Amino acid sequence: MRILIVDDVPDNIRVLSRMLAEEGHQLSAATGGREALELVESCRPDLILLDIMMPEMDGYEVCEVLRANPLLSGIPVIFITALADAEDETRGLSMGAVDYITKPFKEAIVRLRVRTHLELKRQRDLLDRLCRLDGLTGIPNRRDFDEQLDREWRRATRGQESLAAAMIDIDHFKGYNDTYGHPAGDACLRQVAAILAEGLNRGGDFVARYGGEEFICLFIGVGAKGLDAVGEKLRASVEALRIPHVASTVSPWVTVSVGAAICRPTADMAPSVLVEAADAELFTAKRAGRNRVSLVNI
Ligand code: GH3
Ligand code: MG
Ligand code: MG
Repeated sequence: MRILIVDDVPDNIRVLSRMLAEEGHQLSAATGGREALELVESCRPDLILLDIMMPEMDGYEVCEVLRANPLLSGIPVIFITALADAEDETRGLSMGAVDYITKPFKEAIVRLRVRTHLELKRQRDLLDRLCRLDGLTGIPNRRDFDEQLDREWRRATRGQESLAAAMIDIDHFKGYNDTYGHPAGDACLRQVAAILAEGLNRGGDFVARYGGEEFICLFIGVGAKGLDAVGEKLRASVEALRIPHVASTVSPWVTVSVGAAICRPTADMAPSVLVEAADAELFTAKRAGRNRVSLVNI
């Protein structure tokens, strides 16, 4: 894992680096607070070993800046310092540091404490990833979609760019389950999810399982024409899987209906507007006969 060592005394950095490199970690080092904050942004360490007494910007200040940034506040910090008073340790730990080690330190103890905190970080990262994935299909879930939508909505509002979403629902899926059984329905959902994910080849595009047999896509910087084209491409890609569906009244194969919506977000609009509009278009596509795309520009 990646560890950042921050200390104004190069000898301290050398000792810690040698020791932790032996454990197989990737190390970077900074001799001041400001340099440390720059490195944190660029190399996103899994753990920071932070000295307190440093000229210009001390370790407490570095820790404060990290805690105030939601993107960086999850990085565990261990203070390694010559400040051995209970007040200093209390201050360090109350700032959210996961541990406090005083100098001169015992190598074996630093090694073991680092090991423990890296293991906890690894487990937290894993949990974080699992929380965002749909268990059945392996694509992102609705929680992840909602967060992406919030983030992209704010970005599009600032940049006065357009944002688009597509709600995709399998046609007559209840009939599919009734005919082929629930396990076959699950396999069908996996295939559809995989082909939709494959169909999104542009960098910022995103697909998630919204629930049941519904998927949702988010498109950044696409125009109405482009949205119509990608919606049609996704629809056609599902039909081209040629998954037999004798209970469908619209095709011999499994098909989807697509409701798409595009807008230029403004500060007075809520992101849910886009999803609701896509959902309403999905209803229109279903009523118009299914296995088609319906689009609205809001
Ligand atoms: P429409 O064309 O109007 O969308 O009809 P539909 O039958 O697809 O819609 P409906 O909402 O009536 O049925 C959705 C079905 O999706 C019912 C439900 O059992 C099935 N479903 C939802 N989640 C899962 C799942 O995880 N696995 C399986 N196998 N089926 C699921
Ligand atoms: Mg359906
Ligand atoms: Mg549905």
